[in-house]
Amino acid sequence: MKTGKYIEIEDQFGAHNYHPLDIVVRKAEGVWVEDVDGKRYIDFLAAYSAVNQGHCHPRLLKALRAQAARVTLTSRAFRNDQLPHFCREICELTGFPRVLPMNSGAEAVETALKAARKWGEKVKGVPAGQGEIIACADNFHGRTITIVSFSTDEQYRDGFGPFTPGFKIIPYGDADALAAAINERTVAFLVEPIQGESGIVVPPAGFLARARRLCSQHNVLLICDEIQSGLGRTGKLFAYEWENVRPDGVIVGKALSGGFYPVSAFLSSDEVMSVFHPGDHGSTFGGNPLGMAVAREAMRVLVEEKLVERSAELGPWFMEKLAAIKSPSIVKVRGKGLWVGLVLDRKARPYCEALMQEGLLCKETHDTVIRFAPPLCITRKDLNLALRRVAKVFKKLDG
Ligand SMILES: *Cc1c(COP(=O)(O)O)cnc(C)c1O
Repeated sequence: MKTGKYIEIEDQFGAHNYHPLDIVVRKAEGVWVEDVDGKRYIDFLAAYSAVNQGHCHPRLLKALRAQAARVTLTSRAFRNDQLPHFCREICELTGFPRVLPMNSGAEAVETALKAARKWGEKVKGVPAGQGEIIACADNFHGRTITIVSFSTDEQYRDGFGPFTPGFKIIPYGDADALAAAINERTVAFLVEPIQGESGIVVPPAGFLARARRLCSQHNVLLICDEIQSGLGRTGKLFAYEWENVRPDGVIVGKALSGGFYPVSAFLSSDEVMSVFHPGDHGSTFGGNPLGMAVAREAMRVLVEEKLVERSAELGPWFMEKLAAIKSPSIVKVRGKGLWVGLVLDRKARPYCEALMQEGLLCKETHDTVIRFAPPLCITRKDLNLALRRVAKVFKKLDG
Protein backbone atom coordinates (compact mmCIF):
# COMPACT_ATOMS: atom_id res chain seq x y z
CA MET A 1 0.00 0.00 0.00
CA LYS A 2 1.26 3.48 -0.87
CA THR A 3 1.54 6.53 1.37
CA GLY A 4 -1.57 8.18 -0.08
CA LYS A 5 -3.78 5.18 0.67
CA TYR A 6 -2.73 5.03 4.35
CA ILE A 7 -3.46 8.72 4.70
CA GLU A 8 -6.84 8.33 3.03
CA ILE A 9 -7.89 5.54 5.41
CA GLU A 10 -6.68 7.36 8.50
CA ASP A 11 -8.43 10.54 7.42
CA GLN A 12 -11.63 8.65 6.79
CA PHE A 13 -11.81 6.72 10.07
CA GLY A 14 -9.65 8.63 12.54
CA ALA A 15 -10.39 11.83 14.42
CA HIS A 16 -8.64 14.81 12.88
CA ASN A 17 -7.01 16.07 16.05
CA TYR A 18 -3.50 16.29 14.50
CA HIS A 19 -2.01 17.77 11.35
CA PRO A 20 0.93 15.43 10.72
CA LEU A 21 3.47 15.65 7.93
CA ASP A 22 2.53 13.32 5.10
CA ILE A 23 4.98 10.57 5.90
CA VAL A 24 3.83 7.11 6.91
CA VAL A 25 6.52 5.43 8.98
CA ARG A 26 6.98 1.69 8.71
CA LYS A 27 10.12 1.12 10.71
CA ALA A 28 12.91 2.88 12.51
CA GLU A 29 16.28 2.22 14.08
CA GLY A 30 18.43 4.64 16.07
CA VAL A 31 18.06 8.06 14.43
CA TRP A 32 16.81 6.64 11.13
CA VAL A 33 13.19 6.28 10.10
CA GLU A 34 11.87 4.54 6.98
CA ASP A 35 8.52 5.19 5.32
CA VAL A 36 6.20 2.75 3.55
CA ASP A 37 7.76 3.66 0.18
CA GLY A 38 11.20 2.73 1.47
CA LYS A 39 12.57 6.28 1.77
CA ARG A 40 14.87 6.95 4.72
CA TYR A 41 14.89 10.02 6.96
CA ILE A 42 16.87 11.30 9.93
CA ASP A 43 14.46 11.80 12.82
CA PHE A 44 14.97 15.28 14.24
CA LEU A 45 11.95 15.26 16.51
CA ALA A 46 12.44 11.97 18.37
CA ALA A 47 8.73 11.80 19.22
CA TYR A 48 8.96 15.05 21.21
CA SER A 49 11.99 13.64 23.08
CA ALA A 50 10.34 10.34 23.95
CA VAL A 51 12.97 8.42 22.00
CA ASN A 52 16.11 10.08 23.39
CA GLN A 53 17.67 6.59 23.44
CA GLY A 54 17.00 6.13 19.69
CA HIS A 55 14.28 4.13 17.94
CA CYS A 56 13.85 0.45 18.76
CA HIS A 57 16.86 0.34 21.01
CA PRO A 58 17.96 -3.34 21.09
CA ARG A 59 18.37 -3.35 24.86
CA LEU A 60 14.88 -1.95 25.37
CA LEU A 61 13.45 -4.43 22.89
CA LYS A 62 15.10 -7.24 24.79
CA ALA A 63 13.80 -5.99 28.15
CA LEU A 64 10.30 -5.56 26.74
CA ARG A 65 10.25 -9.02 25.19
CA ALA A 66 11.59 -10.75 28.28
CA GLN A 67 9.12 -9.04 30.59
CA ALA A 68 6.19 -9.48 28.17
CA ALA A 69 6.80 -13.23 28.28
CA ARG A 70 6.72 -13.26 32.10
CA VAL A 71 3.97 -10.96 33.35
CA THR A 72 2.64 -7.65 31.98
CA LEU A 73 -0.02 -6.44 34.36
CA THR A 74 -0.94 -7.18 37.94
CA SER A 75 -2.71 -3.91 38.80
CA ARG A 76 -1.67 -2.38 42.10
CA ALA A 77 -4.07 -4.72 43.89
CA PHE A 78 -1.04 -7.02 44.02
CA ARG A 79 2.66 -6.25 44.09
CA ASN A 80 5.00 -7.14 41.24
CA ASP A 81 8.73 -7.82 41.17
CA GLN A 82 9.63 -4.88 38.88
CA LEU A 83 8.05 -1.93 40.67
CA PRO A 84 10.31 -2.00 43.76
CA HIS A 85 13.45 -2.00 41.57
CA PHE A 86 12.06 0.82 39.43
CA CYS A 87 11.26 2.91 42.51
CA ARG A 88 14.71 2.50 43.99
CA GLU A 89 16.53 3.01 40.70
CA ILE A 90 14.70 6.18 39.67
CA CYS A 91 15.09 7.64 43.17
CA GLU A 92 18.82 6.87 43.12
CA LEU A 93 19.20 8.33 39.63
CA THR A 94 17.35 11.55 40.38
CA GLY A 95 18.05 12.05 44.07
CA PHE A 96 14.38 12.30 45.04
CA PRO A 97 13.24 10.16 47.97
CA ARG A 98 9.91 8.97 46.57
CA VAL A 99 8.18 8.25 43.30
CA LEU A 100 4.63 7.68 42.09
CA PRO A 101 4.49 6.04 38.64
CA MET A 102 1.76 6.77 36.10
CA ASN A 103 1.46 6.29 32.33
CA SER A 104 1.11 9.43 30.24
CA GLY A 105 2.72 12.77 30.95
CA ALA A 106 -0.63 14.43 31.57
CA GLU A 107 -1.44 11.88 34.28
CA ALA A 108 1.84 12.58 36.04
CA VAL A 109 1.10 16.32 35.88
CA GLU A 110 -2.35 15.64 37.36
CA THR A 111 -0.64 13.62 40.08
CA ALA A 112 1.64 16.55 40.88
CA LEU A 113 -1.32 18.95 41.01
CA LYS A 114 -3.23 16.63 43.33
CA ALA A 115 -0.17 16.18 45.55
CA ALA A 116 0.36 19.95 45.71
CA ARG A 117 -3.25 20.73 46.55
CA LYS A 118 -3.44 18.07 49.23
CA TRP A 119 -0.07 19.06 50.68
CA GLY A 120 -1.37 22.63 50.80
CA GLU A 121 -4.39 21.60 52.75
CA LYS A 122 -2.94 18.96 55.05
CA VAL A 123 0.57 20.28 55.64
CA LYS A 124 0.65 23.99 54.86
CA GLY A 125 -2.79 24.56 56.34
CA VAL A 126 -4.55 26.29 53.46
CA PRO A 127 -8.34 26.18 54.00
CA ALA A 128 -10.04 23.30 52.14
CA GLY A 129 -10.67 23.99 48.48
CA GLN A 130 -8.75 27.29 48.52
CA GLY A 131 -5.30 26.26 47.31
CA GLU A 132 -3.84 28.13 44.37
CA ILE A 133 -1.27 26.90 41.87
CA ILE A 134 0.74 29.34 39.80
CA ALA A 135 1.70 28.43 36.23
CA CYS A 136 3.26 30.33 33.34
CA ALA A 137 1.92 31.88 30.17
CA ASP A 138 2.57 29.75 27.07
CA ASN A 139 2.99 26.63 29.21
CA PHE A 140 2.42 23.13 27.95
CA HIS A 141 1.59 20.51 30.54
CA GLY A 142 -0.79 18.22 28.66
CA ARG A 143 -4.37 17.99 27.50
CA THR A 144 -6.75 17.04 30.31
CA ILE A 145 -9.51 19.47 31.23
CA THR A 146 -7.73 20.51 34.43
CA ILE A 147 -4.46 21.04 32.60
CA VAL A 148 -5.96 23.06 29.76
CA SER A 149 -7.74 25.08 32.45
CA PHE A 150 -4.45 26.90 32.96
CA SER A 151 -3.28 26.91 29.35
CA THR A 152 -3.02 30.32 27.73
CA ASP A 153 -3.44 28.85 24.25
CA GLU A 154 -7.03 29.58 23.23
CA GLN A 155 -7.15 26.63 20.85
CA TYR A 156 -6.33 24.19 23.64
CA ARG A 157 -9.33 25.48 25.63
CA ASP A 158 -11.85 26.34 22.96
CA GLY A 159 -15.06 24.44 23.55
CA PHE A 160 -13.79 22.42 26.51
CA GLY A 161 -15.16 24.46 29.42
CA PRO A 162 -16.21 24.63 32.19
CA PHE A 163 -12.68 24.65 33.55
CA THR A 164 -11.01 23.76 36.83
CA PRO A 165 -10.47 26.83 39.04
CA GLY A 166 -7.51 27.51 41.32
CA PHE A 167 -4.79 28.51 38.86
CA LYS A 168 -2.99 31.79 38.34
CA ILE A 169 -0.84 32.72 35.37
CA ILE A 170 2.35 34.78 35.34
CA PRO A 171 4.50 35.71 32.34
CA TYR A 172 7.19 33.05 31.76
CA GLY A 173 10.56 34.09 33.14
CA ASP A 174 9.19 36.94 35.27
CA ALA A 175 10.28 36.38 38.88
CA ASP A 176 8.78 39.72 40.00
CA ALA A 177 5.41 38.59 38.73
CA LEU A 178 5.84 35.34 40.65
CA ALA A 179 6.62 37.28 43.83
CA ALA A 180 3.51 39.38 43.29
CA ALA A 181 1.29 36.37 42.56
CA ILE A 182 2.20 34.37 45.67
CA ASN A 183 -0.17 34.69 48.61
CA GLU A 184 -0.96 32.65 51.72
CA ARG A 185 -3.14 30.28 49.69
CA THR A 186 -0.44 29.48 47.10
CA VAL A 187 0.52 25.81 47.25
CA ALA A 188 2.77 25.39 44.21
CA PHE A 189 4.53 26.99 41.29
CA LEU A 190 4.46 24.64 38.28
CA VAL A 191 7.03 25.44 35.62
CA GLU A 192 8.91 24.04 32.64
CA PRO A 193 12.59 24.99 33.20
CA ILE A 194 12.72 25.48 29.41
CA GLN A 195 9.42 25.69 27.54
CA GLY A 196 9.26 23.02 24.84
CA GLU A 197 5.98 23.29 22.96
CA SER A 198 6.10 27.05 23.09
CA GLY A 199 9.28 26.94 20.99
CA ILE A 200 12.31 25.95 23.14
CA VAL A 201 12.08 29.14 25.18
CA VAL A 202 14.97 29.53 27.64
CA PRO A 203 14.02 31.90 30.49
CA PRO A 204 16.34 34.70 31.62
CA ALA A 205 19.32 33.48 33.66
CA GLY A 206 18.51 33.45 37.35
CA PHE A 207 14.76 33.03 36.91
CA LEU A 208 14.53 29.52 38.27
CA ALA A 209 16.98 30.27 41.07
CA ARG A 210 14.87 33.24 42.15
CA ALA A 211 11.72 31.17 41.84
CA ARG A 212 13.36 28.63 44.15
CA ARG A 213 14.13 31.30 46.75
CA LEU A 214 10.61 32.77 46.56
CA CYS A 215 9.02 29.34 46.92
CA SER A 216 11.20 28.52 49.92
CA GLN A 217 10.47 31.88 51.57
CA HIS A 218 6.70 31.47 51.21
CA ASN A 219 6.39 27.73 51.80
CA VAL A 220 5.31 27.06 48.22
CA LEU A 221 6.25 23.88 46.33
CA LEU A 222 8.44 24.38 43.28
CA ILE A 223 7.41 21.71 40.79
CA CYS A 224 9.30 21.32 37.52
CA ASP A 225 7.68 19.68 34.53
CA GLU A 226 10.65 17.92 32.92
CA ILE A 227 8.60 15.59 30.74
CA GLN A 228 10.27 16.99 27.61
CA SER A 229 13.31 18.82 28.99
CA GLY A 230 14.42 16.05 31.35
CA LEU A 231 16.40 12.84 31.03
CA GLY A 232 19.28 14.34 29.12
CA ARG A 233 17.65 16.46 26.46
CA THR A 234 19.34 19.71 27.52
CA GLY A 235 22.75 18.23 28.34
CA LYS A 236 21.92 17.71 32.03
CA LEU A 237 19.79 14.96 33.50
CA PHE A 238 17.32 17.72 34.38
CA ALA A 239 17.17 21.21 32.90
CA TYR A 240 16.80 22.73 36.38
CA GLU A 241 20.40 21.73 37.07
CA TRP A 242 21.50 24.55 34.75
CA GLU A 243 20.33 26.91 37.50
CA ASN A 244 21.68 24.82 40.36
CA VAL A 245 18.30 24.51 41.97
CA ARG A 246 16.49 21.55 43.42
CA PRO A 247 12.70 21.60 43.05
CA ASP A 248 10.34 20.03 45.59
CA GLY A 249 8.89 17.84 42.89
CA VAL A 250 9.69 16.84 39.33
CA ILE A 251 7.49 15.32 36.64
CA VAL A 252 8.99 12.92 34.08
CA GLY A 253 7.58 10.96 31.17
CA LYS A 254 8.43 10.62 27.48
CA ALA A 255 12.05 9.32 27.41
CA LEU A 256 11.50 7.48 30.68
CA SER A 257 10.54 4.48 28.55
CA GLY A 258 12.56 5.25 25.42
CA GLY A 259 9.48 5.27 23.23
CA PHE A 260 8.41 1.69 23.90
CA TYR A 261 5.61 2.09 26.33
CA PRO A 262 3.94 4.97 28.17
CA VAL A 263 5.59 5.45 31.56
CA SER A 264 5.56 8.68 33.55
CA ALA A 265 6.21 9.56 37.15
CA PHE A 266 6.00 12.23 39.79
CA LEU A 267 8.99 12.39 42.14
CA SER A 268 9.05 14.29 45.39
CA SER A 269 9.87 14.39 49.09
CA ASP A 270 8.62 12.19 51.91
CA GLU A 271 6.57 15.13 53.17
CA VAL A 272 4.75 15.72 49.90
CA MET A 273 4.30 12.08 48.95
CA SER A 274 2.98 11.21 52.41
CA VAL A 275 -0.28 13.01 51.60
CA PHE A 276 -1.27 10.03 49.48
CA HIS A 277 -2.93 7.22 51.41
CA PRO A 278 -4.30 3.95 50.00
CA GLY A 279 -7.26 4.76 47.77
CA ASP A 280 -6.46 8.47 47.33
CA HIS A 281 -5.05 8.19 43.83
CA GLY A 282 -4.01 5.52 41.38
CA SER A 283 -4.03 3.99 37.93
CA THR A 284 -4.72 0.48 36.65
CA PHE A 285 -1.63 0.47 34.46
CA GLY A 286 0.59 2.74 36.60
CA GLY A 287 3.58 0.82 37.90
CA ASN A 288 2.84 -2.26 35.79
CA PRO A 289 5.70 -4.75 35.45
CA LEU A 290 6.07 -4.35 31.67
CA GLY A 291 6.36 -0.57 31.89
CA MET A 292 8.67 -0.78 34.90
CA ALA A 293 11.01 -3.27 33.19
CA VAL A 294 11.23 -1.04 30.11
CA ALA A 295 11.75 2.13 32.16
CA ARG A 296 14.51 0.50 34.20
CA GLU A 297 16.38 -0.43 31.05
CA ALA A 298 15.69 2.98 29.47
CA MET A 299 17.33 4.68 32.47
CA ARG A 300 20.30 2.32 32.34
CA VAL A 301 20.78 3.02 28.62
CA LEU A 302 20.67 6.76 29.30
CA VAL A 303 23.44 6.44 31.88
CA GLU A 304 25.60 3.70 30.34
CA GLU A 305 25.56 5.16 26.83
CA LYS A 306 26.35 8.59 28.30
CA LEU A 307 23.46 10.19 26.43
CA VAL A 308 23.29 13.17 28.78
CA GLU A 309 26.98 13.86 28.15
CA ARG A 310 26.49 13.47 24.40
CA SER A 311 23.75 16.09 24.43
CA ALA A 312 26.00 18.45 26.41
CA GLU A 313 28.90 17.91 24.05
CA LEU A 314 27.16 17.90 20.68
CA GLY A 315 24.46 20.48 21.44
CA PRO A 316 26.58 23.66 21.55
CA TRP A 317 28.58 22.53 18.50
CA PHE A 318 25.38 21.83 16.55
CA MET A 319 23.86 25.16 17.57
CA GLU A 320 26.98 27.01 16.46
CA LYS A 321 26.83 25.32 13.06
CA LEU A 322 23.14 26.15 12.73
CA ALA A 323 23.80 29.78 13.61
CA ALA A 324 26.36 29.88 10.82
CA ILE A 325 23.67 29.14 8.23
CA LYS A 326 23.02 32.53 6.75
CA SER A 327 19.38 33.04 5.90
CA PRO A 328 17.22 36.16 5.89
CA SER A 329 14.32 34.13 7.31
CA ILE A 330 16.16 32.92 10.45
CA VAL A 331 15.61 35.34 13.32
CA LYS A 332 17.23 33.38 16.12
CA VAL A 333 18.74 30.05 17.11
CA ARG A 334 18.04 29.16 20.74
CA GLY A 335 18.07 26.15 23.02
CA LYS A 336 20.17 23.97 25.30
CA GLY A 337 21.93 20.72 24.49
CA LEU A 338 20.46 18.90 21.53
CA TRP A 339 17.21 20.81 21.87
CA VAL A 340 17.12 23.71 19.49
CA GLY A 341 14.50 26.14 18.28
CA LEU A 342 15.08 27.84 14.97
CA VAL A 343 12.94 30.97 15.07
CA LEU A 344 11.81 32.21 11.66
CA ASP A 345 10.20 35.46 10.57
CA ARG A 346 7.59 33.46 8.68
CA LYS A 347 5.61 30.23 8.85
CA ALA A 348 7.80 27.23 9.61
CA ARG A 349 5.55 24.55 8.12
CA PRO A 350 6.79 24.92 4.49
CA TYR A 351 10.36 24.54 5.77
CA CYS A 352 9.44 21.37 7.67
CA GLU A 353 7.78 19.99 4.54
CA ALA A 354 10.84 20.81 2.44
CA LEU A 355 13.13 19.28 5.08
CA MET A 356 11.04 16.14 4.93
CA GLN A 357 11.52 16.02 1.16
CA GLU A 358 15.28 16.24 1.86
CA GLY A 359 15.06 13.36 4.34
CA LEU A 360 15.01 15.25 7.63
CA LEU A 361 12.01 14.94 9.92
CA CYS A 362 11.09 17.82 12.18
CA LYS A 363 7.97 19.67 13.13
CA GLU A 364 7.02 23.30 13.50
CA THR A 365 5.84 24.46 16.87
CA HIS A 366 3.79 27.61 17.33
CA ASP A 367 3.79 28.50 13.65
CA THR A 368 7.19 30.13 13.27
CA VAL A 369 9.60 27.89 15.18
CA ILE A 370 11.27 24.72 13.88
CA ARG A 371 12.19 22.37 16.70
CA PHE A 372 15.29 20.19 16.36
CA ALA A 373 15.47 17.37 18.89
CA PRO A 374 17.22 14.31 17.46
CA PRO A 375 17.65 11.12 19.49
CA LEU A 376 20.61 11.72 21.82
CA CYS A 377 22.48 8.75 20.38
CA ILE A 378 23.04 10.72 17.16
CA THR A 379 26.58 10.89 15.80
CA ARG A 380 28.47 13.99 14.71
CA LYS A 381 28.45 12.54 11.21
CA ASP A 382 24.65 12.34 11.09
CA LEU A 383 24.39 15.82 12.59
CA ASN A 384 26.61 17.07 9.79
CA LEU A 385 24.43 15.35 7.23
CA ALA A 386 21.39 17.01 8.80
CA LEU A 387 23.10 20.41 8.75
CA ARG A 388 23.78 20.08 5.04
CA ARG A 389 20.11 19.27 4.45
CA VAL A 390 19.00 22.25 6.53
CA ALA A 391 21.36 24.59 4.67
CA LYS A 392 20.12 23.28 1.33
CA VAL A 393 16.47 23.82 2.23
CA PHE A 394 17.04 27.36 3.44
CA LYS A 395 19.01 28.19 0.31
CA LYS A 396 16.20 26.80 -1.84
CA LEU A 397 13.26 28.38 -0.02
CA ASP A 398 14.90 31.75 0.59
CA GLY A 399 16.13 32.11 -2.95
C1 LIG B 1 4.50 16.08 26.29
C2 LIG B 1 4.40 16.91 27.51
C3 LIG B 1 3.38 16.71 28.47
C4 LIG B 1 2.25 15.73 28.26
O1 LIG B 1 2.67 14.44 28.09
P1 LIG B 1 1.66 13.35 27.43
O2 LIG B 1 2.40 12.06 27.56
O3 LIG B 1 1.47 13.77 26.01
O4 LIG B 1 0.40 13.40 28.21
C5 LIG B 1 3.40 17.49 29.61
N1 LIG B 1 4.37 18.41 29.81
C6 LIG B 1 5.35 18.64 28.92
C7 LIG B 1 6.40 19.66 29.21
C8 LIG B 1 5.40 17.91 27.73
O5 LIG B 1 6.34 18.15 26.82
